[in-house]
Amino acid sequence: MTTTTTVAIVGAGLGGLALARVLHVQGIDSVVYERESSRTARGQGGMLDIQSGQRALREAGLIGRFHAIARREGQDLRLLDPDGTLLLQEDTPDDAPAVRPELDRADLRDLLLDSLPEGVARWGHAYRSGGDGVLQFADGSSATYDLLVGAESRVRALLTDARPEHTGQHAFELGIPDIDRTHPDLAAMVGRGSYWARGNGQSLTAQRNGDGRVRVYLSFHHTAEDWLAGWHAQFSTLIAACDGTVAARSISTLPVGLTWPRPPGRLPRRRRGVRTRDVRTHQCRRQAFRANTGTPVGTGRRAANARVLPAPLRGRARRTVLPDRHCGISSPA
Ligand SMILES: Cc1cc2nc3c(=O)[nH]c(=O)nc-3n(C[C@H](O)[C@H](O)[C@H](O)COP(=O)(O)OP(=O)(O)OC[C@H]3O[C@@H](n4cnc5c(N)ncnc54)[C@H](O)[C@@H]3O)c2cc1C
Repeated sequence: MTTTTTVAIVGAGLGGLALARVLHVQGIDSVVYERESSRTARGQGGMLDIQSGQRALREAGLIGRFHAIARREGQDLRLLDPDGTLLLQEDTPDDAPAVRPELDRADLRDLLLDSLPEGVARWGHAYRSGGDGVLQFADGSSATYDLLVGAESRVRALLTDARPEHTGQHAFELGIPDIDRTHPDLAAMVGRGSYWARGNGQSLTAQRNGDGRVRVYLSFHHTAEDWLAGWHAQFSTLIAACDGTVAARSISTLPVGLTWPRPPGRLPRRRRGVRTRDVRTHQCRRQAFRANTGTPVGTGRRAANARVLPAPLRGRARRTVLPDRHCGISSPA
């Protein structure tokens, strides 16, 4: 007799949807419960540089479609000191490898959503509690599951009492819409990719998005009263050009190295008639087990780190990505 395992994924973010898609490719059905009322209910935020994420997209059979819409030129980078000194400039030649191309978060989410069968994503289902094979949602409805994957943070409470703690770091997101038309001088200054200034525990990041908007992120930690003192006027000009949309974020983190005991579970079965290569099935099983045990997809240490790392630190990893011949170090003028 064939039994069917009901896989429930909570959270239709990038992690939950990528898992649902990989399971689908492997012939395993799942349902994704999302609290938002529709895919357009909330702006999804800025750009993502996709590096190791390309492996997930390959597993999901979406790498070709990803490269068709990713912004290769978004790999451009300008790194500055607070006094305006340009420390590093990387320009992406047309034939450069797409090592970390950028893509709007909403476009990546749409790519994943469009690759799933109708009805897999269930909107308006805000997870409230779960256990013993039953999920309870905020609107009073419920659903059953055999395997539960937390692709947002609340499900984690079923596995550990650890809670995120504030790091003391704050970030604000602002933006300049249609920058090429409204502020061509600032558009040229920021360039096609990322523009970073950092120093004394503060950072300013400006990043061009696919829709012509430049998002500006400010982050600081234990600053002096005048936190922009000593910063070059070009940074205040950039901030002054932003429209009135401000999103404030406090940066929290889970304890580094957090683990939890592995609960027992069994693997979901593939749909009949779906054949896959052994290696992929193995990887998929590992992924499903991982989801069922120590590290729910999208809420593990990597995701926590990604949330915590200030953008400039992510940038340091970037410096080595393009071949040296594409890098230029300039001296102070
Ligand atoms: C500023 C910033 C920059 C980043 N830049 C990059 C980058 O350049 N490249 C990169 O690879 N990664 C980057 N990351 C990390 C990346 O965004 C995360 O790893 C990724 O979004 C994690 O996906 P997720 O699905 O686990 O969570 P999320 O994307 O946060 O999705 C969680 C989903 O769960 C839903 N949800 C929440 N609560 C409930 C509930 N109670 N019930 C049902 N649904 C719920 C939410 O609405 C959301 O749709 C960045 C992160 C930040 C904060």
